[in-house]
Amino acid sequence: MKTIFEKSVAGREGCWPCEGMAEEAYIPSELLRQGDIGLPSASELDVVRHFTKLSQRNYGVDGNFYPLGSCTMKYNPKFTEIVAAMPGFTRLHPVLPQLQGAGGLCQGALEVMYETENLLCEITGMHAFTLHPMAGAHGELTGVMLMAAYHRDRGNKKTKIIVPDSAHGTNPASAAIAGYTVISVASVDGIVDPAALAEVLDDEVAGMMMTCPNTLGLFEKNLPEIVRLLRKVDALLYYDGANLNAVMGKMRVGDVGFDIVHLNLHKTFATPHGGGGPGSGPVGVSEKLEPFLPISRVAKLEDGQFFLGYDHPKSIGYVAPFYGNFGVVLKAYAYILRLGRAGLIRATENAVLSANYMRKRLENHFEIPFNRICMHEFVASAAEQAKNGVHALDFAKALLDKGYHAPTVYFPLIVPESIMIEPTETENKETLDQFIDDLIEIAELAITDPAAVQAAPLTLPVTRLDETRAARAMELTDDL
Ligand SMILES: *Cc1c(COP(=O)(O)O)cnc(C)c1O
Repeated sequence: MKTIFEKSVAGREGCWPCEGMAEEAYIPSELLRQGDIGLPSASELDVVRHFTKLSQRNYGVDGNFYPLGSCTMKYNPKFTEIVAAMPGFTRLHPVLPQLQGAGGLCQGALEVMYETENLLCEITGMHAFTLHPMAGAHGELTGVMLMAAYHRDRGNKKTKIIVPDSAHGTNPASAAIAGYTVISVASVDGIVDPAALAEVLDDEVAGMMMTCPNTLGLFEKNLPEIVRLLRKVDALLYYDGANLNAVMGKMRVGDVGFDIVHLNLHKTFATPHGGGGPGSGPVGVSEKLEPFLPISRVAKLEDGQFFLGYDHPKSIGYVAPFYGNFGVVLKAYAYILRLGRAGLIRATENAVLSANYMRKRLENHFEIPFNRICMHEFVASAAEQAKNGVHALDFAKALLDKGYHAPTVYFPLIVPESIMIEPTETENKETLDQFIDDLIEIAELAITDPAAVQAAPLTLPVTRLDETRAARAMELTDDL
């Protein structure tokens, strides 16, 4: 496929709304660039077709099943896009005056932020929320900074954060970036064992970060005991709630005793993501941590107007400019109101049901290391097939030939040859069955003709790459 530069023909251009209006009329001449900036010239139709064709070469959830474990997209109804595109929201500017008396036009947007914080408090049982962090990992870093601020305020000397080996990989990274020593605790039978935890607990522990459900898709059933143990050494509990679609409406992390939680609005609450954004990782805290939340904080005046407050002396300060990723917040707000309590509960139930259905149908074809009721996802292993030379990576590649996005492979690290599958709450039974049938077909081929699976993918523009070289010494070509 030719690049847009190769399609360029001098003199071709699109249609301007302000035909005949010289740039000089609205841009001072001294600011106008002199000379050619090297952009291609193409007609509007050429540009539209070019980018439409490029988009069709992309894989997305609008095209086919996307069972990527953990980080997948959950339910992204299209109506939330319409809400987020409303001009009353998109035309706002961050430095508009806030209050109506000052000519502010953003009271509605501030109210959306205020109410979204309240809704997230209700869903999680937390005391207060900040909408600032721009991603899950950013929420984690914010949460760990809140832990540090809390301990500093109390004069506690704390140097360590405990992270189970079944946690998401961003958890230890966030703790380390914030300057803590990360203490890993091995899971026992797939979950955190209070006895093993007690062994690494001491007065220097600032807190513990738990991914729940953990990366094996299992619920951490010892939470109350874990909370009790950490309280004894004045350590805080962090809940990685990126995948809240496994528990929302069923359990509130605040009620269990957690001090900090982050949610991924771009996973559980309606924003499609992938390839790096956009994201939003709001952080909820218990009452004792509220004074440390980042600024600005949206608040309500007595006369019912909303404003962004900056007067919070114990705040950790800014983690993002202004107030976070508003478009993503808006979609989450619309989503929560539209689904309501019953809808959110149904989403959770469907996510868990779908994952367990797939797990059961696959259990005779793949080793499932922790083969019991799972939450929104489960982890299978290709360890048996690997003895025959067919690895998790080969399964992932063979699935590409059948038109799927590959599941997450080789993560979590505690399962060899892991294949992590998250079907989500939205897929129908026919889609799940087709995927399972296709995966079983590949598993059978792995026995009868391992080389055929190892050769996949054969239907894509590129087949097997030296993936290390592709990342380290990228050679771009456009003649695919
Ligand atoms: C996706 C995910 C994260 C990280 O979120 P990002 O928005 O990608 O930074 C953290 N924890 C868990 C459990 C996740 O699934």
